[in-house]
This record gives sequence, structure tokens and C-alpha cells, in this order.
Amino acid sequence: MFSCVDSVRIIGAGLAGSEAAWQCARRGVPVDLFEMRPVRTTPAHQTAEFAELICSNSLKSDGENTAPWLLKEEMRQAGSLLLTIARETSVPAGHALAVDRTEFSRRVTDAIAREPLITIRREEATEIEDGQITAIATGPLTSDALTMEIHRLSSTCPSDGDGSPDPSRAEPALSERSESKGVPAPHNLYFYDSISPIVESDSINMDRVYMAARYDKGSADYINCPMSKEQYDAFYDALLAAQSVEEKDWEKLNYFEGCLPIEEIARRGRDTLRFGPMKPVGLKHPRTGKMPYAVVQLRQENLRADSYNLVGFQNHLKFAEQARVLRLIPGLENARFLRYGQIHRNTYINAPTLLTATLQMKRHPRTLFAGQICGVEGYVESIATGLMAGVHAAALAAGGEPVPPPRATAFGSLIHYITQADPKNFQPANITFDLLPALATQVRDRKERHRRQCELALREFAVWLSQLRDIPIPPPAEVPA
Ligand SMILES: Cc1cc2nc3c(=O)[nH]c(=O)nc-3n(C[C@H](O)[C@H](O)[C@H](O)COP(=O)(O)OP(=O)(O)OC[C@H]3O[C@@H](n4cnc5c(N)ncnc54)[C@H](O)[C@@H]3O)c2cc1C
Repeated sequence: MFSCVDSVRIIGAGLAGSEAAWQCARRGVPVDLFEMRPVRTTPAHQTAEFAELICSNSLKSDGENTAPWLLKEEMRQAGSLLLTIARETSVPAGHALAVDRTEFSRRVTDAIAREPLITIRREEATEIEDGQITAIATGPLTSDALTMEIHRLSSTCPSDGDGSPDPSRAEPALSERSESKGVPAPHNLYFYDSISPIVESDSINMDRVYMAARYDKGSADYINCPMSKEQYDAFYDALLAAQSVEEKDWEKLNYFEGCLPIEEIARRGRDTLRFGPMKPVGLKHPRTGKMPYAVVQLRQENLRADSYNLVGFQNHLKFAEQARVLRLIPGLENARFLRYGQIHRNTYINAPTLLTATLQMKRHPRTLFAGQICGVEGYVESIATGLMAGVHAAALAAGGEPVPPPRATAFGSLIHYITQADPKNFQPANITFDLLPALATQVRDRKERHRRQCELALREFAVWLSQLRDIPIPPPAEVPA
């Protein structure tokens, strides 16, 4: 335990904040944990409990040598409170780790309440004090007042030259958050995810596509899937007939014109897509010299070797429908989807611009971010970044220097992605093998490759943990029943 010199303030007792508070306290660091519920609630939470799971009750695959398993295994090594409670409250779900959500949240709340070094403050935090070590873990539905405070902090951070994020992605949300009307567009802050589908590159039929840059400007980095009129018509009809995800009223978004779902564009007329994301001009087929009737462009993911996203194909369709309709695109007949398109409410920062590898703000190093708001996606990833922010905040409180986890680990890869991705096109990510670095030697067999990546990651993570001097790892057995 430290002979502590400072306390830590954690805002939000959701998945990330609860884990962060526990990690700090278990290292002997006093914590003020702010949670606004039930005084003020979010549109999705239904209880006053900490770590409420607002939708599904699944913490993803627990199958050995999968990427979500690897992250959970590292979290187990690091003594995650929430993972321990998840296992204790699990319900049968095949290879997945699913929990009894009521029991899970109750036990997290209970464990946090019993921790003597944590002071719970049931109030909305609206200000970040300079100099006070603070971890912001207020999630996808961060309150408006704090959002404005984060905007203030993030607008004093660098958004250099061509590295700056595209402001058009931040603006639309202001119009759909009535309380925020009239507020200037916060360029390092986003309010909804507009996610294009991603396919594995070795599932693309390269015989049916071609590489080209529009008007041959720049290098031919895009994969182009050409369509004839018949193929376009069949795709268009299937798209219009596809089923959308059902939304709750509060989830309904006033889409920004520059970021419409493809099915919405399609509803505006049979040819609208051909003047938008499927525009063929400047993309002559190199074999025929002719311009196709329509083109779908695929762009390589920055840090995701071996994967391509469908440019401008954000959509709100059910996943099974997306698979069916998108496989009508020439070259994607057998596409394997790493991620489907989505559009949903989500407050998150432009982490590549704002954060260091230890989740500290570049310009305000005593302010850290964790959970969904730092640019990860999903329950497990949120808990994981909460754990890491807690470890780093505790190190800061003790007057130490936070040390990031190694790149080869799941923790290190997830954080590497959010801090090193292209800031212009930054989108939140789940943990996948795509984010992990390639092995030094090529292994063709996918299963064997993943097994080796996990083995290496766990070895490196154990070394990193053992090197965190003076920082005891909280034993999972200490969780109260
Ligand atoms: C509608 C919806 C459905 C989702 N479904 C899933 C799903 O099925 N599976 C999945 O993996 N992920 C899902 N997510 C993403 C999910 O929200 C995250 O995975 C996870 O909850 C994020 O954890 P977190 O700790 O970052 O945020 P949260 O768990 O949301 O915790 C944030 C906490 O901060 C509090 N707070 C906010 N502002 C303040 C303030 N100013 N002061 C004090 N407290 C504050 C909130 O009350 C909340 O308790 C969904 C998100 C949404 C919006």
C-alpha cells in the first residue's frame, strides 16, 4: 500500500468507474466516487445501482483463445472486481459469459459501498478541478453539464493540422440534444456512433473487384466493388426491403445530412446512392476502361491490418439483414464481417487527439478517461479501461509515473488503438485480434495464430503486472459475497 499523498475523484459509477474506484482503493488511495443516479438519471438506466448493464447481459465470449477471452484473462490477472462478480453471478450462456444483471449490479454496489477508502457521492459532477486527479467514466450518456465541461477541457487540447477530427461528425448531435442547442460544435467530442461495416480482407473475392483511387488521385488504396445496373437494382430493392433495428423513442436521432444511414439515403430515390456513397465517377474499371453503374468502395482500416470498411455504409439495419444485403455486393459474396454497421447514441472523445497511452489527457495529465467515453465499445472493454485508469490514477496519487501495458497484450492493443488510430475517422472499438500486433513469424492456421497471440499476450501482461512496484494486485477473493 502507498503512504498516500493524494486522493482520486472518479466520476460515474458505471462499469468503468466502479472498477476504477476499486482498483484505486485497493492500492490504498482514497476515492471520491460521484454517481448522479438516482438524483438525476440517464435515458437508459433504470436503477440506482452501480454497474448497471443497460441492454444485453452478455460479457461476450469466454471461449479460450478468443480476443474477448484474452482481455478477460488479463483482467482476471489484474484482480478485476467486476469480472470476479460477473463469474460469481453468471448464468448459462454457452461459450459466453452472461450474468444475472440484477445480482451483478447489486453485488458491485455492495462491494463498493463496503470499501472504507471509497466515499460515495450521489450527485452530478459538473466541473473538473485542475490539479485534482480525476477519472471521467460517465459513459455514453454523460450528463449535459459535464459534457460541456469536457468540451471546455478538450478544446484546449491539440487538434493539429490534418490530424484534426472531422467536425461534421460532432455537430449533428447538438441538434438532437435539445438542452445543448446553441453551444459551439465541440471538435473533440462526439455524440453518436455512425459505424460502417468492416469485413476481413481474405474474405473479399479479389477477382471481382479492383484497386483504384478516384480520378487516379493519390495511390490506389481503395478496393472498388463495381456494379452493373442489374446488380445495383437488385441491391437497392433488397436494401429497401431490409428490416431496421427497432429504436426506443429517446434513441431516435436527427441524422446529420453528411452522415445518413444508407437505407435513409436509398429511401430518397432510386439513384440517390449513386450520387452519394456509391458514386462511380472517376473510378473507371482498369480492365474495361469503362465506368461502372455504381461502386462500393472499401478502405483499409488504419491499425486493423487484414480488414476493410465499407466507405459511407453506416446503417441501422439488423445484423442478419446487413449480412444478407451486403453480400449482394460483387466481391463480398462470402464476406466475413468483423463488425456490422451501427448508429446509436454515444458520447465519446477523440482519444487519438486527446489521450496518452496511460489514458491521461495530453494537456491535463491529472485528468484521465475510462469506459465508453474514452472510445472503447462494450461492457468488457469499459471495465478494462476502468481498471487501467484506476491503476494509473493510483500511481499518480502516489507521486509515481503511470506505465502503459505492453503493446502485445489485449489491454495494450485496445489502448494503442484508441490513442493511435486516425483521429479524422476515429470510431470506438471492441477488442478483436485485429488490434493485436502480428506475430514475429507468420502462422497460417488462424486457430494456432490466435493461440500463440494469446500465449504471448498473457506472458507479457504477467511481466508488466509484476513490474508495477509498490502496487499490490487486489486479490479477487476479497470480494464480499
Ligand atoms: C442504449 C445503449 C445500449 C447498449 N447496449 C450495450 C450492450 O448490449 N452490450 C454492450 O457491451 N454495450 C452496450 N452499450 C454500451 C454500454 O453503454 C457500455 O458498454 C457500458 O455501459 C459503458 O460503461 P461505462 O462505465 O463507460 O458507462 P456507464 O455504465 O453508462 O456508466 C456511466 C455512469 O456515469 C453516470 N454519470 C453520467 N454523467 C454523470 C455526471 N455528470 N456525474 C455523475 N455521474 C454521471 C451515469 O449515471 C452512469 O452510471 C449500450 C449503450 C447504450 C447507450
